[in-house]
Amino acid sequence: MAKKTIADVDVRDKVVLMRVDFNVPQEDDGSITDDRRIRMALPSIESVLARGGKLVLMSHLGRPKGKGVEPAYTLRPTAVRLGELLKKSVAFATDTVGDSAKATIAALKSGDVCVLENVRFNAGESSGDSTYAGILAGWADIYCNDAFGTCHRKDASMVAVPKAMGSKPKVSGFLVAKEIQYLSDVLANPERPFVAILGGAKVSDKINVINNLLGICDKVLVGGAMAYTFSLAQGGKVGKSLVEPDKVELAKSLLAKGGDKLILPVDTHCGDAFKGDCNKKIVAAGEIPDGWEGLDIGPKTAALYADIVRKSKTVVWNGPMGVFEMAPFDEGTKAVANAVAESTATSIIGGGDSAAAVEQLGYADKVTHVSTGGGASLSMLEGERFEAVDLLDEA
Ligand code: AMP
Repeated sequence: MAKKTIADVDVRDKVVLMRVDFNVPQEDDGSITDDRRIRMALPSIESVLARGGKLVLMSHLGRPKGKGVEPAYTLRPTAVRLGELLKKSVAFATDTVGDSAKATIAALKSGDVCVLENVRFNAGESSGDSTYAGILAGWADIYCNDAFGTCHRKDASMVAVPKAMGSKPKVSGFLVAKEIQYLSDVLANPERPFVAILGGAKVSDKINVINNLLGICDKVLVGGAMAYTFSLAQGGKVGKSLVEPDKVELAKSLLAKGGDKLILPVDTHCGDAFKGDCNKKIVAAGEIPDGWEGLDIGPKTAALYADIVRKSKTVVWNGPMGVFEMAPFDEGTKAVANAVAESTATSIIGGGDSAAAVEQLGYADKVTHVSTGGGASLSMLEGERFEAVDLLDEA
């Protein structure tokens, strides 16, 4: 699935239309609270500018209605922030396919960069409209996709635009290339033993991931509240733990499919209330008393999972082992994160909460890859193919 990257094309004096993910968290007044997504796109951006390309950046921000400009979702602050990071002026177009975009792009000199306004201000973005995409594609000589977090979507800027580029180069940016390398290529050809660790709140969110990974992993370790629905399926007592009674039958079928590949907790760290200073006790799995709820895996489970991780050659992790935001129920997640960080395995952390947990606990630089896409990395773990990636030129 290796794709050409932006490094493989000659960009000098060419207009490069790059889809980035500048969907940054903001305060009500528009100030950016976390510019990580902008900083992560810098390698691809700088690669084009350093080689004398004319760079046009497009992105979505939030969920505007698609009926024109909504000030709360303007990308202008991201253009300002990018200018500060690049230490150069960044032009801003107040539309995507109108006169402002046309004039702004025409004024670009080699090594210049502009940001177009939010692609979702136009209804054509979410509907994947080919007329809208045709105008966007018409701005450029080269298309580059560096927006991994949106790769599982069929928005115009992700799918219809590269289609409309026809035979012009369509490449991945460095972020997308790295995500494909780990979430697709490593998973397709893992060094074994290959272990998946799955946690989080709901089994219903991860059914397809569990199904897919049971097919390709040697072991799938389950933690988080998800484990209690499996416990219920085995006739266990779950007290007032977070469970999905309507998913018990499904859990039974996953247990049958998984056999001894599917590993469940052996003990549970419980509390009598959903707060850090509640009364606590550790009980055997399936023996959570009435009035108590499971909030983390217990120490025996943490040791068992850490041991399995230590013996693995490839680890994929998605979802915390407990309520990691609330000490001491972060201990199970910490123990597993520590084992992943210390292991010599290729370790891939799925986006969303597990990425946040690994970062919060200070292990981000001790793992091989932390995925940037929540929904997108989950879709890749489900084995889904992305049209937005398939459309890019083969290396
Ligand atoms: P997810 O988005 O499905 O990965 O779920 C992450 C969330 O699951 C985090 O906010 C955790 O606090 C929560 N979670 C994990 N284990 C439990 C648990 N035993 N009880 C309640 N919530 C949990």
